[in-house]
Amino acid sequence: MDLLWGVCKYESHKPIREAGVKIDVVLAYADRDDKGQARGTALQKDGRRALGITRKLGLKDRAMGRGDAEITLDGDYWLEAGKEQQAALLDHELTHLVVKMDQAGFFRRDPLKRPILGLRLHDIEVGWFVEVAKRHEGNSLERGQALMIMDSYGQYFWPEIVGAKPGAEKSEDADKKPGDITIQISGEGFDSGLMSEEQFSKAVKNIKKRPTVEPTTVPA
Ligand SMILES: [Zn+2]
Repeated sequence: MDLLWGVCKYESHKPIREAGVKIDVVLAYADRDDKGQARGTALQKDGRRALGITRKLGLKDRAMGRGDAEITLDGDYWLEAGKEQQAALLDHELTHLVVKMDQAGFFRRDPLKRPILGLRLHDIEVGWFVEVAKRHEGNSLERGQALMIMDSYGQYFWPEIVGAKPGAEKSEDADKKPGDITIQISGEGFDSGLMSEEQFSKAVKNIKKRPTVEPTTVPA
């Protein structure tokens, strides 16, 4: 999957390249009815459709030749998506992976000399009720959090709206890095890097193929 290594070019993914993280990529598909129409979704997290799920793999999987991490993608979405949407989804999933370093700045390794990975949570996860925002307006958790996101990162999420506000483009927050604010809302993320084996097997349907991507295939 060349696209994956295209996405790895970003500076924030440099440790993934340098540590030689091996990633298994899996496509999963929704069940089909007799007419070939999708029933349900390929991937689910907390009852909602997920487009991708990223997991780190354990020592046993690694010893058996699996990757160090696994990215499962919604194959139905993948087939419909354009290249740039695919790249954005892969970038999202890769961002969940963190290569652990020791205090001296070296990559931490497991007994197989494979890189030890951590999982990064989303910078922002929201769980809002429209009717609560409607009823309580400015006093609602929903409105308060929406404002906080708008003020801190509006230029990334709603560029048209923020660009329309006088002086908003040169916000003092423009250089703020994601992660500077933590918004604790609910666990209902669009997808998750944190899933047990049991949750994962319930969440994923119809895995069809599994190309494995090794960093040695990165074009120079
Ligand atoms: Zn995610």
